[in-house]
Amino acid sequence: MEEEREHEEERRGMVDILRGQGVSERVLEAMMQVKRHLFVPPHLSDQAYTDYPLPIGEGQTISAPHMVAMMCDYLALKKGEKVLEIGAGSGYHAAVIAELIGEKGHVYSVERIMWLVKYSRENLKRAGYTQVTVTSGDGTLGLPEHAPYDKISVTCAAPDVPPPLLEQLKVDGKMIIPIGRYMQELYLVNKRNGIERERKCDVLFVPLVGRYGFR
Ligand code: SAH
Repeated sequence: MEEEREHEEERRGMVDILRGQGVSERVLEAMMQVKRHLFVPPHLSDQAYTDYPLPIGEGQTISAPHMVAMMCDYLALKKGEKVLEIGAGSGYHAAVIAELIGEKGHVYSVERIMWLVKYSRENLKRAGYTQVTVTSGDGTLGLPEHAPYDKISVTCAAPDVPPPLLEQLKVDGKMIIPIGRYMQELYLVNKRNGIERERKCDVLFVPLVGRYGFR
């Protein structure tokens, strides 16, 4: 109980810092709800509310809170939306998206490392998120069985936008995706009559590995 209260205070501190960086109130509210300490390895739970990426095993990382916040803001997530995430990892980012799309929305997340499929499912269950489904597979192929998606969030760096993801995005949908191997940039892709890409900022992510990713 005492520990939960401490975590809540730390979470408030994290949210206050993000507010100072211009994150929207909606996203801050969502991040105030998600217990990030349930998504990091137990020996790192005292660092759960610092603004850093943390190792989650298998050479992968949970993204820094400001990166999750920024990506959610760029996607302008709304209640009831259907979202595809590539790279479930710890499940944290999916949980923040789930808060934003509400109970009527759904997050489908694809993860290629089986151990992390199980890890993210357990974390999400423990934290109480029932509207997130984690599937094992190569996310560069998307998840055609539930397409089209309102929004797509790619949480690892791709060589370019994988064509199946573009196909599975609704017209007027948005995708956020880091592109590049060493020098990576975050892009917001809008699917209108054509495809518009807006470069947002420099970032650092683990690589997207797969058919339309890095080999
Ligand atoms: N969203 C995660 C961050 C995960 S890091 C979180 O909140 O914790 C990126 C993840 O992408 C890693 O777990 C990695 O295994 C996964 N990944 C890399 N290539 C992938 C692919 N082709 N398909 C699905 N997942 C992939």
